[in-house]
Amino acid sequence: MNKNETRIYQVCTNCVMDTTDAVINFDENGMCDHCRNFYNNIKPHWNTSDNGKTRLEAMVKKIKKDSKGKKYDCIIGLSGGIDSSYLLNYAITELKLNPFVLVVDTGWNLEVAENNVSKIVDKLNIEYVREKVNFEEMADLQLAFFKSQVPYQDLPQDHVIFSTLYNTAVKMGIKHVLTGGNFSTECVREPIEWVYQNDLRMIKDIHKKFGKKKLKTLPMTSMFKYKIYYRYFKGMKVHRPLDLIPYTKQDALNTLTSKFQYEPYANKHFESIFTRFYEGYWLVKKFGFDKRKAHFSSLILTNQLDRNSALDVLKNPPYSEEQALKDMKFITEKLGITVEEFVNLMNADKKTYKDYKNTSGLISLGVKLARFIGIEKRQFR
Ligand SMILES: [Zn+2]
Repeated sequence: MNKNETRIYQVCTNCVMDTTDAVINFDENGMCDHCRNFYNNIKPHWNTSDNGKTRLEAMVKKIKKDSKGKKYDCIIGLSGGIDSSYLLNYAITELKLNPFVLVVDTGWNLEVAENNVSKIVDKLNIEYVREKVNFEEMADLQLAFFKSQVPYQDLPQDHVIFSTLYNTAVKMGIKHVLTGGNFSTECVREPIEWVYQNDLRMIKDIHKKFGKKKLKTLPMTSMFKYKIYYRYFKGMKVHRPLDLIPYTKQDALNTLTSKFQYEPYANKHFESIFTRFYEGYWLVKKFGFDKRKAHFSSLILTNQLDRNSALDVLKNPPYSEEQALKDMKFITEKLGITVEEFVNLMNADKKTYKDYKNTSGLISLGVKLARFIGIEKRQFR
């Protein structure tokens, strides 16, 4: 297709992904490649009954064996979101593990998320460590990202959170990292134009061009370091236990509310003000990308949501204009720019990772290799 040609709008007949994903393709029945990827590459390998149970038991056995004589057997990053909260409760009460619990504070968590974290750790009667990142550096990187005009404004936060988790694991000699990542709520991956990878080369290039402060303390990890060095030289393993058990969003939420009086958020990832604003406003208004489409599609494919209800919800914006403007005021103040300056950034040219130094070629080669040897089941485009 010619690059300048506008594509005719089309939505998948089976999920709610549509042509706002520039490289989506449809078969003769109007079903998209995200759906085909789920049915052909994920579902056949995703077994939460007997096979899952056996693998889970083997995982727990190995974790306990590797940590004999140590205080902690694994590490879990707790965000206060549903997946990590459920995972923590499950690891302690069902798997009888003794995780080192890490809360990474990037300075943007909503009070309700902080309260959820407190309720969970109090009730489980466990210690946890709160790692507060240097907010001046965090803000400088985030502001540089806004100035770079790329869609993926959550990359700085995500990168810092996962780097803190992995670096802490290696520093403490903890070999097993448990994550709340799961196919049940995330089997449809956001297209790369919506959510680009954790690419340190691009992050550094953007900061070099638009940042003002030196990033001296902000935890960062290159793809090479955590995919190769940490895994093969430090023996670190990352597990996704929620893929080995029957796991649904509603059941998880029911467990969390009844056991911890957990308070849900309006949308997935809405536990942070920054994330809420970026996903609900910047990404939607500037680029026309609505992450709810990928999330709802995951829930549709795993029979947790019906397609018509999802289409109905999608008719309305992710959150109200009124709240968005309040958040904009709060965020711009915290980042040290005026609302007017921010509106100018919103209206300026759109950019992508291709406008900056990046390692996308290397990453996609790595993922292709991982798919070839069977580690990565989801599609990467
Ligand atoms: Zn589809």
